[in-house]
Amino acid sequence: MQIEFSGAAQEVTGSCHILRVGARTVLLDCGLFQGRRSESREKNLRLPLPIDEIDAVVLSHAHIDHAGRLPYLVAQGYTGTIWATSATRDLCAIMLADSAHIQEKDADFLERHGQPHAEPLYRIADATRTLDHMVGMPYHKWFDVTDGVRAMFCEAGHILGSASVVLDLREGTAFRRVVFSGDVGRTGLPIIRDPQPPTGGADVIICESTYGNRDHESVAGARDELARVVRETAARGGRVLIPAFAVGRTQELVYDLHSLYREGKIPAIPIFIDSPLATDATSVFAMHPEVFDQSESLVRESFSLFNFPLVTFTRDVQESKALNSRHGPMVIIAASGMAESGRILHHLRDGASDPRNTILVVGFMAEHTLGRRIVEQRPVLRIFGDEVPLAASVEILNGYSAHADRTGLQWWLGAVRAGGAAEGRTTPHVYLVHGEHKAQEAFAEQLQRDGYRVDVPAPGERVTI
Ligand SMILES: [Zn+2]
Ligand SMILES: [Zn+2]
Repeated sequence: MQIEFSGAAQEVTGSCHILRVGARTVLLDCGLFQGRRSESREKNLRLPLPIDEIDAVVLSHAHIDHAGRLPYLVAQGYTGTIWATSATRDLCAIMLADSAHIQEKDADFLERHGQPHAEPLYRIADATRTLDHMVGMPYHKWFDVTDGVRAMFCEAGHILGSASVVLDLREGTAFRRVVFSGDVGRTGLPIIRDPQPPTGGADVIICESTYGNRDHESVAGARDELARVVRETAARGGRVLIPAFAVGRTQELVYDLHSLYREGKIPAIPIFIDSPLATDATSVFAMHPEVFDQSESLVRESFSLFNFPLVTFTRDVQESKALNSRHGPMVIIAASGMAESGRILHHLRDGASDPRNTILVVGFMAEHTLGRRIVEQRPVLRIFGDEVPLAASVEILNGYSAHADRTGLQWWLGAVRAGGAAEGRTTPHVYLVHGEHKAQEAFAEQLQRDGYRVDVPAPGERVTI
């Protein structure tokens, strides 16, 4: 049995790991590489193996860096099953179509600006066909993926529908249990349940390491900070501009703003969710109350979590543009999360130079993104070819991260290990993926001190398990 680390190996995006068991081949995730345009395009076009060798795909969650190349697989002729949780499948319905739309628009843009014709990686029709292959499964139910491989989803607590995957692999008389962490979330995140580490242990763990070298502030602390930023910016008469992933982070922010408003902790200023995708995603959230965290009072008490008097979902472009001519304090939440594309760019171009405004960073900003340059507080930002001086204040709330921090990952791994020890398994071999170099090195050293065998596989590296 073999694992090949094809994507998110020594980097954060492009999650894809290949399991080979007997004559069968299963992909864990098939995510889009993001970052510098030309470099990521090359990587996205290069499939790690011929399509007809892939027997099945198991998907951990709907984020584009995990699911975003599935339509490309289908466009290239993949006809097998893509296993996911039911909420992940429903989120993919909107997220893959959105990803296709962005790629079609990008290809048009490049062509209009005299660049050589570049086909989009896939089109909306491919995203739609991908859903035909997706099968939604409940949590905690074993299912047969292909000969010699069965799997089960456990709550990862990262976004709606997110899962860690337990895989039982059988080849002849040999048996291995592999646990794939997916993206591990955090205890106490709004709306969704806390991570539930798989029980029963593992021989091998493929574990994310995004924040393996640091700890976050608490979720509760982030909520208080959010209230403070809204209050202070409103008092200056400014806007709070929040680049946020349309799926997950946006709903958490709306939910927290709803709670803060009910508790009288923020002033009654308008809140605009300026993203058609976020609007659609919010409907998908509303369709999956079965995965909400029933220990939270707003979940239990409010019939409508995401709609309250201050909030407006803007869908069409005219409404979005009209926000620029509005006066007075407001909150604008718009995609994309790393400020690489989407409507947030217009709001940043118009608002970054106004010292009354605040740019509120609530998520991970990868290298080479506009979001990272905002975090670094570069004096001048380049947006749509314009030089925009950065005069707005920049506030960073890492308490909203949907990723476990170092302590969270150690806890999660420790729980899986303890579950195995109870059944007489040896300490699992941990392969760290989905992290930048510094975070991975630091976390690997920490885990070695904790007694694990640890490797940080290079892209394309194969290991026998
Ligand atoms: Zn994710
Ligand atoms: Zn991820």
